[in-house]
Amino acid sequence: MPAATVIRIPSNILDAVYAGAKELYPRESFLLLRGNKSKGIINITDLILAPFAAHEEGAVHFNPYMFAGDYTLVGTVHSHPSGNISPSNTDLNYFFGRVLMIVGYPYEGKGCIAAYDSNGDKVPIEITAAVECKDEEFY
Ligand SMILES: [Zn+2]
Repeated sequence: MPAATVIRIPSNILDAVYAGAKELYPRESFLLLRGNKSKGIINITDLILAPFAAHEEGAVHFNPYMFAGDYTLVGTVHSHPSGNISPSNTDLNYFFGRVLMIVGYPYEGKGCIAAYDSNGDKVPIEITAAVECKDEEFY
């Protein structure tokens, strides 16, 4: 599968990710990313709260087989309350979709988010203008 060159995330979706991460701090938040990919660009269009994700200290459990066949799911985003936005070995072992996004405490601005491909290589993120979301009840 060819690597993504850039990920575009609307500012209001990023804000929602940060808001959820702040709410759950010091636990980890975990969301699924919905979107599409064209010419190497992944456009994030929506967030989905994984209903079966259990939040524990330093561990998020998620069963990707629940979503087998849903090709609008482009990846996942979760928070690192430590503030370190590098992926852990566990993160890479449980890589799902095309992109792994990590947000780090204090969950503000452009410096608290990073995205990685399945090799653990960093993928640049572009924050784009806000879009209207279909589902506004993230939490
Ligand atoms: Zn992690």
